Amino acid sequence: MGKDESRASDNTVLVHDERHDKGAVVPPIYQSSIFTFESYQAMVDRFRGVSTQPVYSRVDNPTVSVLLDKMCQLERGEAAAAFSSGIAAISNAILGQVKAGDRIVCVKHVYPDTYRLLKGICARFGVTTDFIDGRDLSAIKESLSGAKLLYLESPCTWLMQEQDLAAMAKLAQAAGVTSIVDNSWASPILQKPLQVGIDLVVHSASKYISGHSDVVAGLLVGRKSIIDKLKLETTPYLGAKLSAQEASLLLRGLRTLPLRMQRHQESALLIARRLAEHPAVLRVHHPGLAPSDYSLLQGYGGLFSFEVDSAIDIPAFCNSLSLFRLGVSWGGHESLLMPAEVSINQAGEHSAAVDFGISPRLIRLFVGLEDPEELWNDLLGAFSRA
Ligand SMILES: *Cc1c(COP(=O)(O)O)cnc(C)c1O
Repeated sequence: MGKDESRASDNTVLVHDERHDKGAVVPPIYQSSIFTFESYQAMVDRFRGVSTQPVYSRVDNPTVSVLLDKMCQLERGEAAAAFSSGIAAISNAILGQVKAGDRIVCVKHVYPDTYRLLKGICARFGVTTDFIDGRDLSAIKESLSGAKLLYLESPCTWLMQEQDLAAMAKLAQAAGVTSIVDNSWASPILQKPLQVGIDLVVHSASKYISGHSDVVAGLLVGRKSIIDKLKLETTPYLGAKLSAQEASLLLRGLRTLPLRMQRHQESALLIARRLAEHPAVLRVHHPGLAPSDYSLLQGYGGLFSFEVDSAIDIPAFCNSLSLFRLGVSWGGHESLLMPAEVSINQAGEHSAAVDFGISPRLIRLFVGLEDPEELWNDLLGAFSRA
């Protein structure tokens, strides 16, 4: 997957760590807040930006740097930054680039907390957002005129719709607008938006990159000029840094990412195809069931959704599952489900599920690494009892 002539394949990049101190095959965890200097001159050089010696773990840490280097190789990016959560990567990328009076163009069906960031904090500081259907290129083009950022998420939350990322990148470039894609669904293994001219990619590394449901983290990869500016003006002052321990866990997760994606893909496609045939299922939203001709995806993960007819009692359906657990998030080892109705009824202003008109009959499924036939039997049993 993801091989081109001039570089090692993703599999090799992920598994083959350089030899570290004393021949260690795993990078050391630099559990140190500060890094001292050998001389006055060495300190001066670092502060003037002449050297890159680490200073302080709010700003840089050698374990985190190993992770950033791997992410650049995977995403074909020039530079990267790491954060304490996916939403911190998103908020730093957005807040670091806008000022009062700016306008953002964002596709509909973005991650609900991204929506709340844009409708809440951003709006409060005088930055407005137009939410446009990501499949309507002419509406996007029209809205981009005079905008500051184009924010995409492909495939998107709840409905897993893809956007034409190559066309979007072209439109953004023509309008002088910086483009950002949330690439969490695909992971860097299955989609590389920077290769078609997108400026920045964000990941909730809490999902597939961690892969073991034990880390909350975020990553930003893309153009060096933009990331350097963010590191100079924004990220040290918002302070949402990644710890060395968690960077190490993400490096561990990355080693098996291609293997896990393969298994998620096979199991999820099997279940999605069977659901599409089930009499109680109205629709299945999985990008692999009706692929678009512009898709950049080189495969599919484990996350998709489906809508059930009104004869199914959704709470009873959820309660009678034993392998699929009720829970937010996804990307770990374990199978999960999330009914849209719970999100529709979530407390607080600016509900993306309500504002974008998500059906209360929708259920999101994350197919984990369990045996796929046993997962299918779990769902079949729940249908018969609901
Ligand atoms: C989970 C998620 C986020 C937020 O990431 P956190 O690590 O939970 O902060 C952003 N985008 C998408 C698509 C997600 O699924």
